[in-house]
Amino acid sequence: MAGKVTVLRLSHRRSRDVRVTSHCALVSRAFGADGFLLCGERDEAMLLSANKAARKWGGGFGADYCDNPRKFAREFDGAKVHLTMYGLPLMAEIGKIRRRLAKENLLVIVGSEKVPAEFYGIVDFNIAVGSQPHSEVAALAVFLHELFEGRELEKKFANAKIRIIPSQNGKNVEKT
Ligand code: SAM
Repeated sequence: MAGKVTVLRLSHRRSRDVRVTSHCALVSRAFGADGFLLCGERDEAMLLSANKAARKWGGGFGADYCDNPRKFAREFDGAKVHLTMYGLPLMAEIGKIRRRLAKENLLVIVGSEKVPAEFYGIVDFNIAVGSQPHSEVAALAVFLHELFEGRELEKKFANAKIRIIPSQNGKNVEKT
């Protein structure tokens, strides 16, 4: 695939979203995205922890802060997807999105509180991972899994300081 995938997390609130936003970043990295942008309240501790995990477990993933998500999304050079239960069914649209990623970058937007209506118009695809309310973490995981057709689970993370040797019994971890 030619393009890079960036996940943009809207409207982070330090008081209540730290765990869910951190999980969005971890899922983004583990499921094949290249970068993560935090919007809403600035949260250096959250970004530090995401980047620390990325250095430890390897790969080129990085997390950063974005102070103007509207401008960033409007000016993004590539295809834009917003994950929302009100959108079109994932399985009907994912082929088109994969074809876009084959030739350009992809921005994947997830919300926390109510997503401003403007975002629905800025993006190329409003995508529902089922038309029921659930979670940005689940929506992101399923979306990326379908986008990469499962190949993300076999991704190699270069320059890892730590690596799990899959095992039936107990924890087998290799430090490099
Ligand atoms: N009430 C909010 C709204 O109206 O946008 C949504 C809150 S939901 C807990 C937070 C985020 O999870 C959403 O912005 C969306 O990105 C994601 N999400 C939740 N359910 C989803 C679904 N069925 N399909 C796609 N994304 C979903």
